[in-house]
Amino acid sequence: MRGSEGHRGPCPAPAASPPVLEARALAVTYPGGKEGLAPLDLAVAPGERLGIVGESGSGKSTLVRALAGLEPHARGEVRAGTLPVLDQRRESRRARARHLQMIFQDPYHSLNPRHSVRRILREAIAVREDPPRGDALEAEAADLLRSVRLDPALLHRKPHALSGGQRQRVSIARALAPRPAVLLCDEAVSALDVSTQGAIVRLLRALHEERGVALVFVSHDLPLVEYLCTRLLVLDRGTLVESGPTAEVCRQPRAEATRRLLRSVLLPPAEPVAGP
Ligand code: ADP
Ligand code: MG
Repeated sequence: MRGSEGHRGPCPAPAASPPVLEARALAVTYPGGKEGLAPLDLAVAPGERLGIVGESGSGKSTLVRALAGLEPHARGEVRAGTLPVLDQRRESRRARARHLQMIFQDPYHSLNPRHSVRRILREAIAVREDPPRGDALEAEAADLLRSVRLDPALLHRKPHALSGGQRQRVSIARALAPRPAVLLCDEAVSALDVSTQGAIVRLLRALHEERGVALVFVSHDLPLVEYLCTRLLVLDRGTLVESGPTAEVCRQPRAEATRRLLRSVLLPPAEPVAGP
């Protein structure tokens, strides 16, 4: 389905207070002319939990990269609070890092393997406008680890000495260190085993409650998004085809892409054909 039929209410969230993240006519065309993202508008309200779903290749990562200012082929307008995101100047990048942080799928690649957890967290805390120093900085790094339910004894480890789940918790602690208003998570649990996925998603929900940070949670896994997010956007081949409250969209999907995602959840996973 194309057009506006799939959208319940404006895709920008109700404007009770200024959005923490806002895009207007945001579009991505890759070199060679391939359209990664058709122009769309969206807004994330303070403390909101917004899900972005779609099949593989539907443009989810393209959209989050553009929202985070990491997509060089993006055009249109993105604002994180009052900051223009597509502006690549160094000072604005730093200010943006205080407002918006990202968590990626693979913590193996997003954490520097040569740095200890302590150093990773100290550097992330230093992004703040008025960062703590000395003992206060040490205490803060330990508190960050506790906030993601890890033992501060892990401060002296390097990423390779942690489990996948612990590493993703460290990425979350690092992302929270600058006290951002919004956290963008792109398939943040997809590389983890199922029980760890559940634990991390519950942690994100708890952190949202404790800190009021807005979450943009991107996943091809609809049940995870249903658990975590109150509002949902559905992408199909680079186009925003449906949006609305999660429960409504899942109960009465309007776009064919949403129906396909729901059907794939209802089907049992394919069993390997085993011999006798
Ligand atoms: P998703 O995250 O939903 O799986 P992506 O945003 O990664 O989807 O990709 C959307 C589409 O854009 C895909 O067809 C992909 O092949 C294409 N694409 C992604 N990155 C690039 C790039 N750097 N150059 C050209 N095409 C790209
Ligand atoms: Mg992706």
